[in-house]
Amino acid sequence: MSSQALFDGAAAALHAVFGREPEAGLAVQAPGRVNLIGEHTDYNGGLVLPLAIDRGTVAVAARRNDALLRVHSTSLGATGVIGAGAFARGGGWLDYVAGVVAAFRSERLPVAGLDVALASDLPRESGLSSSASLEVAIATLLDVAGHLGLDGAARARLAHRAENEFVGVPCGRMDQLASALGQRSCALRIDCRDFSVRAVPLPGERMRVLIVDSGVRRQLAGGDYGRRRAECEAGLAAARDTGIAPATASTWRDVDPARLDDLERALEPALFRRARHVLTENARVDAVCAALERGDLARVGALLRAGQASLRDDFEVSRAELDVLCELGDATPGCYGSRLTGAGFGGCTIHLVEPARARDVAAAIRSGFAQRFGREPAFHLVAAAEGAGAL
Ligand code: ADP
Ligand code: MG
Repeated sequence: MSSQALFDGAAAALHAVFGREPEAGLAVQAPGRVNLIGEHTDYNGGLVLPLAIDRGTVAVAARRNDALLRVHSTSLGATGVIGAGAFARGGGWLDYVAGVVAAFRSERLPVAGLDVALASDLPRESGLSSSASLEVAIATLLDVAGHLGLDGAARARLAHRAENEFVGVPCGRMDQLASALGQRSCALRIDCRDFSVRAVPLPGERMRVLIVDSGVRRQLAGGDYGRRRAECEAGLAAARDTGIAPATASTWRDVDPARLDDLERALEPALFRRARHVLTENARVDAVCAALERGDLARVGALLRAGQASLRDDFEVSRAELDVLCELGDATPGCYGSRLTGAGFGGCTIHLVEPARARDVAAAIRSGFAQRFGREPAFHLVAAAEGAGAL
């Protein structure tokens, strides 16, 4: 993220819209994220491996004498006001901000009156988590404005409550944790059973992550995502009923992956395939961590490809555009491996590439995709960046 350019844009908007100048200390940034591997595992108590990326949201602010929070988004050219009383959910972008405010208030954390301007270089609704970037930026701003001393995990938890309870998106906590706790040149292995986080150093000089946006918009609130979650729960209930899962198992993480054969006999085929994806995906996350620690990028690439096959065939959340992007990447020299990232049904793919050949990989994907679908996808070449904090 070019923090300086975003800061300048936000500061100019604070002046133009509210006639205010950014106050010293009241400028923060929060990155977006991309998930290297570990898909649909978060709500199953499993493992994920996101990295914070060098794109994100900058928020600058000036204090007010009252309790109002006035917020302007330069990306949308829109301004909203959140008062001291209850905020009526409007179904729009301001809900993400109001949700953070509501989470703070419900935990009796003070919310300073502020004029705020936001600038972002993240595409919205593409799976790079502009929503978590926005929420974590607001949580971080309220933290520094109130001198609350919250740590990153606490800000991530509040931001996640905003999206889950207020906006009403049934997401896991990965996005907010990655945005809040990211480390330069590292991925984060997050265990969604207890939200413990471990930084996994990346061989950053030998790899880049090429993100390709298929241009197909997916609706998280829509039926597909909720259906997969329900299938995971139904499969787990059946596994408990048949004694394959312990009676106390509350997520798939509590099930022994060695019982896959038993699960195949006991579960109806679709529910078994969902379970097989979740159990094998957890194993792939740890295998990727081990391969990264050895610097074995060829092995990492093979694991990404295996993850994509599992998402396509077992979890059934891929689609033609995403399959084609992955196949094009995998067929091009300089690409170690490809997979869809995010919930699927649309959104982005990631391609682990050699830095010197990233342009060639992008060019091959661009022309192959255009031949097949008659339009071009969007490209973002990213590196692993620092998590949210003061600017
Ligand atoms: P993603 O998180 O993958 O980008 P979501 O649908 O979860 O997609 O969240 C996108 C929504 O977040 C946008 O539609 C908008 O309401 C809100 N949002 C994100 N960034 C901004 C921003 N800079 N300004 C205003 N709203 C934003
Ligand atoms: Mg989001």
